[in-house]
Amino acid sequence: MTDARSLTPQLPAAKLLIDGQLVDPVEAGTLTVTNPATGEKICDVPSATGADVDKAVKAARRAFESGPWSKMNPSERGKLIRKLSDLLWQRREEFALVESMNNGKTFRQAITGDVAPGAATLSYFADWANKITGEVLPVDGPFLTYCLKEPVGVVGAIVPWNYPTCLLCWKLGPALASGCTVVVKPSELTPLTALKLGALALEAGFPPGVLNVVTGYGDPAGEALARHPDVDKISFTGSGRTARRLLQASANSNLKKLTLELGGKSPQIVLPDADFATAVEACFWGIFSNKGEICNAGSRVLVHEKAYDAFVGQLTERAKKMRVGDPLDAATEMGAQISPRQLETILSYVDSGKRQGAKLLVGGERDTQGTKAKGLFMQPTIFGDVQPEMKIAQEEIFGPVLSCIRFRDEAHALEIANGTQYGLAASIWTRDVAKAHAMARKVKSGVVWINCFNEFDDAAPFGGYKESGWGRDLSHHALEGYLQYKAVWTKLPADL
Ligand code: NAD
Repeated sequence: MTDARSLTPQLPAAKLLIDGQLVDPVEAGTLTVTNPATGEKICDVPSATGADVDKAVKAARRAFESGPWSKMNPSERGKLIRKLSDLLWQRREEFALVESMNNGKTFRQAITGDVAPGAATLSYFADWANKITGEVLPVDGPFLTYCLKEPVGVVGAIVPWNYPTCLLCWKLGPALASGCTVVVKPSELTPLTALKLGALALEAGFPPGVLNVVTGYGDPAGEALARHPDVDKISFTGSGRTARRLLQASANSNLKKLTLELGGKSPQIVLPDADFATAVEACFWGIFSNKGEICNAGSRVLVHEKAYDAFVGQLTERAKKMRVGDPLDAATEMGAQISPRQLETILSYVDSGKRQGAKLLVGGERDTQGTKAKGLFMQPTIFGDVQPEMKIAQEEIFGPVLSCIRFRDEAHALEIANGTQYGLAASIWTRDVAKAHAMARKVKSGVVWINCFNEFDDAAPFGGYKESGWGRDLSHHALEGYLQYKAVWTKLPADL
């Protein structure tokens, strides 16, 4: 990996991408993009309004209905997606540098956790483009009845700031492979890599209108997309609060379909026979990777009372040694939080933990040592003696704050694990494989990891139970969200 500090950032043009053209917004307006590690301005990008979104949706509609995309063979579509994947992979360091500067995550994590997985997801779905098959249905005769799987149409992809490249690719891969066209609305906090990816799509040769990028705020740009009567589907990753707005917008417009990937409060359940060394490291990275700004962060560690003191002690010692600092320094383990507002939210949860009687074991404050004073750094924070009903054990903090909770037995662990509104992910640490599988069935979440955490593969679906969402990203199951089924009936002669 190149030393990030030797690279020169390649910023995207400050333009919207609509209908294959880089254009200025209809009404002049900008949003400022800031580096959370230094507090310095990076650049301005356009702040789109409803008029820009409307232009982008019209372009996407044209490309879908009558443009080259609608007539393109599936294998050609696949080749274009693969080209985009290849270009992204080739420029992974260039993208990761911009992502790291814009998001505050380390350069290393920007490559390994964001840009490289994004390229891999595009590659995975490129292969699916000519493998989406219909089926012949065994109806009572005399009929030949088959089911066509057709793209849903124009997709609005609304993505958050924590994995801007990767999560965008989670939407683009299956949408494009299915034959949909897309209007992307990245987070106002991290719009740069979406603009860069849009430019790569032009370079790859995507026809105009297939992939459009409108940068702007949730309101008006995101709202305009969500309310647009000619958008067939919104594929969203973000907060439950925004998801509810999207549902209302769908209800008040054209009942557009929704895929929702939302928050989590994922438990890591540690039984007394677990491999401690591996589990400690996994629990540590489970919460502190990407600064805790991960939807499936293992933000609750549930430890059997017999093992609690030893396990939480080791975890705390590891956290004390964590290197927080310049995201571009290869030795840094944790970078800067995304925004002043997010840092305030994290600190207010720390206050709440203290007030409700949890024991602060490490961290708990903003890190202002040296040059970090200019940025938005937070100390890795662990609370012990957390009770399951405390706010820090119930609500998603989206920062480097871990709640450690004791349990008596497996039934008690499951009760605590399932005792929040969320159900995104969980892990179980034990050498008793049968027990682990039995517990996995009782955990109410879309992903369960056994003796591992944070493992992802494009072949495995990701998404939530309960208020963690609707539908799935990744794997062939994600394609379902971008397809609709048509049953075609042909009457056959009865006498043959
Ligand atoms: P957010 O909901 O505030 O914003 C997400 C996106 O929605 C942004 O692009 C934003 O501009 C847009 N938006 C905001 N208001 C809108 C509106 N009224 N209409 C349309 N679009 C609107 O979320 P965030 O703060 O960017 O991201 C953090 C949240 O995302 C956390 O809750 C986290 O758990 C969740 N998340 C989930 C997953 C997952 O896969 N389940 C992954 C990452 C993040």
